[in-house]
Amino acid sequence: MISRRTALKQISSIPVVGGVAAGSLLTGQEAAAASHSQRDYYKELGLRTFINAAGTFTSLTGCLMPKEVIDAYTYASNEYVGLNELQDAVGKKIAEMIGCESAMVTSGAASAMTLGTAGILTGTDDDKAKRIPNDLSGMKDEVIVQESHVIGYSHAIKNCGVKLIVVKTRKELIDAINDKTAMLYFTNYANKLGEVQDKDFAQIGRKYGIPSLNDAAADTPPKKRLSMYIDMGFDLVTFSGGKGLRGPQSAGLLYGRKDLIEAARFNAPPNGDRIGRGMKVNKEEIVSMWIALETFMEMDMDKEWRRWQKQIDLIETAAASVNGVSTKNYVPEIANHVPTLDVTWDKNKFPISGAEFQSVLREGSPSIAVARLAENSINITTWMMVAGQEEIVAARLKEALQKARA
Ligand SMILES: *Cc1c(COP(=O)(O)O)cnc(C)c1O
Repeated sequence: MISRRTALKQISSIPVVGGVAAGSLLTGQEAAAASHSQRDYYKELGLRTFINAAGTFTSLTGCLMPKEVIDAYTYASNEYVGLNELQDAVGKKIAEMIGCESAMVTSGAASAMTLGTAGILTGTDDDKAKRIPNDLSGMKDEVIVQESHVIGYSHAIKNCGVKLIVVKTRKELIDAINDKTAMLYFTNYANKLGEVQDKDFAQIGRKYGIPSLNDAAADTPPKKRLSMYIDMGFDLVTFSGGKGLRGPQSAGLLYGRKDLIEAARFNAPPNGDRIGRGMKVNKEEIVSMWIALETFMEMDMDKEWRRWQKQIDLIETAAASVNGVSTKNYVPEIANHVPTLDVTWDKNKFPISGAEFQSVLREGSPSIAVARLAENSINITTWMMVAGQEEIVAARLKEALQKARA
C-alpha cells in the first residue's frame, strides 16, 4: 500500500518515467514547472491546480501541451508574420500530413463547424458572407442530420442561420434532399446510433452532389482517424486541437476540399464583416497547432497506450480493494478511445452520490478532477495526467472511498 505522503513524495521524485518520448506530457509539465519557478501565477490568482484524472474537458482547460508545442507557441510569439500567408503555409503542411486537399487552423472544432458551414453557404461571395446569419436569401439554407447526431455542439452549425432538417432513416435522408440542401452533417461518435453510417453517409453526399461535414472532434487516437473520413468521401472534417491532439485548447482543425476551405477562410479573420470574426486564431495557435499535429503523428502510440493501461490498472486495483466497490476497465470504441475506468459503489454501503464524491476528490488534497458517470459512480482516464500522478490518484481514491463507506 502506498500512503499519501509516500505518493506525494514520489511525484517529485519521478522526473522521467519511460524516457522522454515525442510529445511526452512530462516534458511539457517540466516546462511549466520551470516557468513557475519565476512566478506562480495561479497561486497569485488564488487558484488551486489539480490532477486531471477526468479527460479533455473544456471546463478543466483541456489538455497539457507537450514541450514541442509550447516551444512552437513561444517561438511564434516573438516575430510578426502575415496572418493569411501563415494560414496558407501551415494549411499546406497539415494537408500534406493528413493526406487531403487543404486545411486550416480554427479556434476549435466548434468554430470549424461554423466556418465550414458558412463557407458552403457563401462560397467567396462578399455580399452573402456579410449577410449570414440574418439573411440567407439566394443561399441554400437546409442542413440534413440524423436525429441521433444532433447534440449540443450542433449549435455551431445553427449559428449560420440554417435550418436543421432532422431525419431518422436512410430513406428519410434521401427524400429530404432538395434544391435548398446546403450540407449533410454527421457527428462521428454517433456513428453506430444512426441508420446511415459514416461511409454510406459520405457517399450519399457524393452521389447527390451535397457537401458533407464530419465532426470528429474527440476521435483521436488512433492516428488513422485523421485521414479515414476523407478517404470515405467526407468533404470537410473537424477535429479539436486541444483534446487528443494536445495542441492549444483554443485551436482546432478544419480540412478537406480545397474550394470549401478557401470559402471557410473567407468567413474568418482577418476578414472583418464576417460570422467568424470572433473566432480568431493568431500566429501562436496556428504554428503550435501544426507542431501539435506533427508531434502527435510522431508519437509512439503503442508505448503511450501501455503507460495509460498500466496507470488505469494501478488505479483499478486500489479502488477495487475497497469492499463494496466494483470497477470496469475498458476502452470506448470511438471518442476518447483510451483506457478508461468506471468506479461504482454499492449505494447501501456508501451514502454518497457521484457528484458529492467528485467534489470530495476535487476539494481534497491533492485536488483531483474525475468525471461523473451516474448516481453512484465516477469515471477516470489517465491520458491527460502527468506520468507518476497515477500513484497519487490510486492512493487518494482508495482513501476517499474507505472514508465514504458508512
Ligand atoms: C469537444 C467537441 C466539440 C467542440 O470542440 P472545441 O474544440 O472545444 O470547439 C465538438 N464536437 C464534439 C463531438 C466534441 O466532442
